[in-house]
Amino acid sequence: MSTAGVIGGGPAGLIAAETLARAGVAVTVYDRMPSVGRRFLLAGHGGLNITHSEARDRMLGRYGRSADRIAPMLDVFSPDDLRDWCAGLGEPTFVGSSGRVFPQAFRATPLMRAWLVRLAELGVRIETRQRWTGWTGDGGLHFTRTDGETVEVAPDVTLFALGGASWPRLGADGGWVDLFTDRGIAVTPLRAANVGVQVSWTDTFAERFAGKPLKNVALTVRGRDQSARGDAMVTRTGIEGGPIYAIGAAIRDALDADGECVLHVDLRPDLTVDQLTARLQNRRPKDSGSTWLRRIGLDPVAIALLRESTGGALPVDATVMAELVKAVPAVVPATMPIDRAISTAGGVAWEEVDESLMVRRLPGTFVAGEMLDWEAPTGGYLLQASFSTGVVTARGAVAWLRCHGALTSTRGLLPTPLQVPHPSPGEDGETRGG
Ligand SMILES: Cc1cc2nc3c(=O)[nH]c(=O)nc-3n(C[C@H](O)[C@H](O)[C@H](O)COP(=O)(O)OP(=O)(O)OC[C@H]3O[C@@H](n4cnc5c(N)ncnc54)[C@H](O)[C@@H]3O)c2cc1C
Repeated sequence: MSTAGVIGGGPAGLIAAETLARAGVAVTVYDRMPSVGRRFLLAGHGGLNITHSEARDRMLGRYGRSADRIAPMLDVFSPDDLRDWCAGLGEPTFVGSSGRVFPQAFRATPLMRAWLVRLAELGVRIETRQRWTGWTGDGGLHFTRTDGETVEVAPDVTLFALGGASWPRLGADGGWVDLFTDRGIAVTPLRAANVGVQVSWTDTFAERFAGKPLKNVALTVRGRDQSARGDAMVTRTGIEGGPIYAIGAAIRDALDADGECVLHVDLRPDLTVDQLTARLQNRRPKDSGSTWLRRIGLDPVAIALLRESTGGALPVDATVMAELVKAVPAVVPATMPIDRAISTAGGVAWEEVDESLMVRRLPGTFVAGEMLDWEAPTGGYLLQASFSTGVVTARGAVAWLRCHGALTSTRGLLPTPLQVPHPSPGEDGETRGG
C-alpha cells in the first residue's frame, strides 16, 4: 500500500487526508499541536462561515491577483461540493441573508467531531505533538516531538498544509518558511490579512467608543480605487471588521509605498455630496452641531469621528460639512500585528507549484491551503480555498503515485461521497473541472 504523510491537520490537510484515504492510500497526519483543526474550531466560535453562495465569477474576484490560480481549484471542489460534504457529515448548510454559507449548527465542533470519526473509519492515523522540522539528508521528513524525541519518516508522497502565521498559538506559526526557502523554494513574505488597522484615537474617543460599530460606512484608501461597505468596529487602538479586511491589500500597498495610509470613511454612502449639502442647508438656528448632524442620520460614534478628524471644531458650511461626511480621514500608520490577523497573505509562490500543486523541484511533494500565496477577504472564501486546494493536492498525489507505480489500488477510481472527480490514468497530476 502506498503511504502519504500529510503535515498539518487544518482543514486543507484533513480534507487531503480524507481524499487520499478514499483512494486507497495509507495516510498519516502529523500536527505540532495536541489536537488537529484548532483554527477551524476557533473560526466556528463566531459562526462558522464555511463558504459563499455567490456566482462563480464574483466569487473568484475575491481572490484578487490569485483568481486565475484558484479558479481550477474551485472547479475541482466547488462551494456546492463543500456544502454536500458538510451535509454528508450530518451538518446541512444554509445561506445567510448576506449570501454567506453556514452549517446548521453554526459552529465547527459537531462537524469536526463527525469528521474525525470518518477519518478514523477510513484508517487515517493522526500523530499530534510532532513538529515538522525539516528534511533528512535523503529527502525524508524530520519531526521533533514535544518530549524532545526526534522522528524520521519517508512516505511515498508528502502533502504540506501548514497554514500561514496568524493566531500562532493555534498551530500555524510560519516556522516552515525558512525550511522551504533553504531548499530554494520561493516564498512570498507572510503578511497580516483580514486584520484591523491602527489609528491613534484621542483617549476620550477610545474610551467612549471602543467596541461601537460605525454602521453602514464605505471605506476607501486615499488615492486608490478599492472601497468596501459594511459595519466597521472601532477598537481602542484602531478599526477592524469586514470592510477593513476587504480593502486590506490596498491598505498594505499604501503602507508599503508611503509609510502610512489615509483611510476615507464615507459615513453616508447612499447620499451624494449634493444631496447631503441640500439636507444640511436646512439647519435650524437653535440646532447644536450634533443635532444638525443627527438630522442627516449620523449617530454619536459617527459624529465623534468627525470631531476626531478635525480636532474638535466642526465645519459650519453645509458643503464643507457634506464633503467631510463623505470622506472622514483617518490616518493609519500600520495594520495590527500578524498574530492578531484572521489570515495571512503571501506563501509558497505559484510558480513553484504545478497545476496539481506539486512543488516542481520536489516531485512527490505537494502544498495546500493558506501556505500558498493567495489571500481573500472574510466571507467563507478562506475555508473554501483551503478545502479546494487540499482536494487538488490529494488528487495530484494519487495521480503521481499511480504514474510512478506506487498505487495499484482501484479504489481511487470509484465515485466517493466527496464527489471529487479522480484523474484518469496518465493524467499525471493534471487537475480538471469536475
Ligand atoms: C478567528 C478566526 C476566524 C476565522 N473565521 C473564518 C470563517 O468564518 N470562514 C473562513 O473561511 N475562514 C475563517 N478563518 C480562516 C480559516 O480558519 C483558515 O483560512 C483555515 O483554517 C486555513 O486552513 P489551513 O489548513 O491552510 O491552515 P490551518 O488551519 O492554520 O492549519 C495548519 C495546521 O498546521 C499545523 N502546523 C503548522 N506548522 C507545523 C509544523 N511545523 N509541524 C506540524 N504541524 C504544523 C498547525 O498546528 C495547524 O493545525 C478564520 C480564522 C481565524 C483565526
